[in-house]
Amino acid sequence: MKIAVQKFGGTSLTTTELRSRVSSIVSSTISSGRKVVVVVSAIGRENDPYATDTFIKLVKETNPEPLDREMDMIMSCGEIISGVLLANHLSNTGIKTRFLTGEQAGVVTDGNFGNAHVLYVNPGNIMDCLENDITPVVAGFQGISENGELTTLGRGGSDTTASALGVALNAEIIDIFTDVEGIMTADPRIVTNARLLDAISYNEICQLAREGARVVHPRAIEIAMQGNVPLRVRSTRLNSTGTLISNQLYDNGNQRMIKDQLITGITYTSNLTQIKIEDSNNNGTQLELNVFQSLADAGISVDFINVQLDRIVFTIQGEQADRAWKALKGINIEPIMEMNCAKVAVVGAAMTGIPGVMASVVAAMNAQEINILQSGDSYTNIWCLVKEKDLGKAVNALHDKFELGN
Ligand code: ADP
Ligand code: MG
Repeated sequence: MKIAVQKFGGTSLTTTELRSRVSSIVSSTISSGRKVVVVVSAIGRENDPYATDTFIKLVKETNPEPLDREMDMIMSCGEIISGVLLANHLSNTGIKTRFLTGEQAGVVTDGNFGNAHVLYVNPGNIMDCLENDITPVVAGFQGISENGELTTLGRGGSDTTASALGVALNAEIIDIFTDVEGIMTADPRIVTNARLLDAISYNEICQLAREGARVVHPRAIEIAMQGNVPLRVRSTRLNSTGTLISNQLYDNGNQRMIKDQLITGITYTSNLTQIKIEDSNNNGTQLELNVFQSLADAGISVDFINVQLDRIVFTIQGEQADRAWKALKGINIEPIMEMNCAKVAVVGAAMTGIPGVMASVVAAMNAQEINILQSGDSYTNIWCLVKEKDLGKAVNALHDKFELGN
């Protein structure tokens, strides 16, 4: 049985016209001899009536620190609404279908509310559907813990559902349908001449996704990679082949390995706060211990940590700035907070050991008079922290510097 898992993101389901596009995509895949498993996200984005963010806001109006377990229940409603709607739409176009919640689809997770990991999939119900020529529509982003609690999988969780099902069902392909043509050298909302990558290795897309490119969730890529199932990121609106993510490039029927490119693309993460703590009398590790322990106790995760003898610098998510401030004041520390920062990263899986990449990054930023607040690197990327207001300029400057555009 040839199976295709086809996941449709929030922006792919907003209008009747788009839902008709989705129906015709599904029916043409069925006509090509494949069984289709549809996975859906909630409809729309922030402020849309049935978007997950809308439900979160609703609960937070009642309790700013909502109950975790109950939060997962309300957060899973968006995918139920979109799934039921799409199933009815498919049915109207003559496709035999059945809507399944995460639990009914057999998605079993750990018990970590809000950010659960998929442990395994029991594909029984889905296989029953497929064997009876029924196209299941599965609610993405949700599962059930081993002790029966409803869980959600965190941001981008519907991608994870699609990958987990793809691997469990040994699918031929996992199609991720979205509002862009595929994976580009940078976010096309920011860089107008971003170029479409027609094929990319798991390794490269993993790096891009980890550094912020939200187009596919990194966990989804890791799962697909482990099961060696190819993913294709493509547009719901346009008829194009998008970007194939695999270990191999299929070229005229002959398999050819994809070579990692020096620089794959430029990514970013916004809404960060940089925190600096200075202490010229520090002569041990007690300060570091106190700082990181107090933040850990407050449930704040820290990133880009740089510890020097007389100061500590790190970043946190912007939403956690208030909480971090209180935690540090609580241990008599006066932090210097730099709000509204963003991280820009140059990502390239083959960048290791190539001289001059950092020099080019600095030159590009200098030419645009952008201050680098902090920087760092790993073997696959170089990142700089900049002010949020410089973000667009910085991403474009790097994209141009490395000649990634069309
Ligand atoms: P969906 O709702 O379909 O899951 P997402 O918003 O999660 O959609 O992901 C698609 C978005 O990812 C695009 O609209 C685009 O702005 C953004 N994006 C960020 N980086 C890239 C990139 N390198 N290539 C393509 N899209 C990108
Ligand atoms: Mg997404």
